[in-house]
Amino acid sequence: MSAAPTPPAAYRVWWEEIERCAGLSGDFDRVEWYEVPGSSYSCPAHEGRCDGWWRSPHTIYMAQGRLYDRRLAEHEMLHDLLQRGDHPPVFQACGV
Ligand SMILES: [Zn+2]
Repeated sequence: MSAAPTPPAAYRVWWEEIERCAGLSGDFDRVEWYEVPGSSYSCPAHEGRCDGWWRSPHTIYMAQGRLYDRRLAEHEMLHDLLQRGDHPPVFQACGV
C-alpha cells in the first residue's frame, strides 16, 4: 500500500462535478488518497475484492490500474460527501 502524496489533478474537477450533481459540498483537501498496486486488491468490502474503497471518515484507496477511471473516483468521492458506505439512489442518479 503506497501513499499518493497528491491525487491526480483531474480529481479536483471530478470532485466539483460530483458535488454539483449530488447538491452537496465537501472539502476535497480533507480526503486522504492511497494508490494500491494492480487493478484490484483485497479489502474488507465487496466480497473481498476492490478497485476503489472509501473508508470513514476521509480515506479513499484506488487501484493503480483504475486511477483515471472517472466514474470509479467519483463513486468513492460521493461516499465521502455523503459520509456513508451504502448506496442511496443518488449514486444511480449521478451515474456513478
Ligand atoms: Zn460504493
